[in-house]
Amino acid sequence: MMESYSVKEKQEQIRENIDRIREEIVKAALSCGRNPDDITLMAVTKTVDPIFVNTAIDCGIKLLGENRVQEFLSKKDKYHRNDVSVHMIGHLQTNKVKYIIGEVDCIESVDNHRLLAEIEKEAAKLNKRMKVLLEVNIGREESKSGLDPDKVLDFVEETSAYPHIHVAGLMAIPPICDQISDLEDYFDRMYQLFLDIGTKKIDNVSMDLLSMGMSGDYLTAIRHGSNMVRLGTAIFGKRNY
Ligand SMILES: *Cc1c(COP(=O)(O)O)cnc(C)c1O
Repeated sequence: MMESYSVKEKQEQIRENIDRIREEIVKAALSCGRNPDDITLMAVTKTVDPIFVNTAIDCGIKLLGENRVQEFLSKKDKYHRNDVSVHMIGHLQTNKVKYIIGEVDCIESVDNHRLLAEIEKEAAKLNKRMKVLLEVNIGREESKSGLDPDKVLDFVEETSAYPHIHVAGLMAIPPICDQISDLEDYFDRMYQLFLDIGTKKIDNVSMDLLSMGMSGDYLTAIRHGSNMVRLGTAIFGKRNY
């Protein structure tokens, strides 16, 4: 059948992509004296058929990134989920928290107190401590969500008031840059913020995860301190919306 042939081809492509990406991650880590094992590769699943998400899982991908609540809920039961963690990485509306709070291991896109308060409330109901990352709008772009970089420290200090939340790190999507040096500056600033917050002892806060780097810039991100890269296109190919 024509169709199953192309599914097989696409699965083969995904396996090749993941092999290549893993090699590149190892090289990038070693090139700056880092341990490749410290870097987590996330597969970003938006628009991707569960068949292909499972191909990635079968290749040993241990972390999925989900953007849309509705899409995730309709796909999640089709995933081979043994042993796989899921992070919510897309903008999350407060009224949708209750649908995913028991289904994901981390919410990476937290940037306001209303959302935090809702996560606290829903996590408390499940008697769960929800892991979150704070999203930083490192380029201060109007079009992007995320905290202003100058306000992150104050914000972090206030999060210690939420007993059912563990702030485990930071997430960012830097602006599109013409110059690689500009991109590197953004990653460096994120890394510095991550280190600065990490040195403070704040209840319910630990800086374990620095989630930055996507298909176009993940090797640069790794060389500048990222320990979690979120890849969609590089793994699954171009998205069809
Ligand atoms: C879509 C998306 C990614 C992956 O983007 P690619 O360029 O396809 O790798 C990573 N992070 C977030 C928040 C996304 O929405």
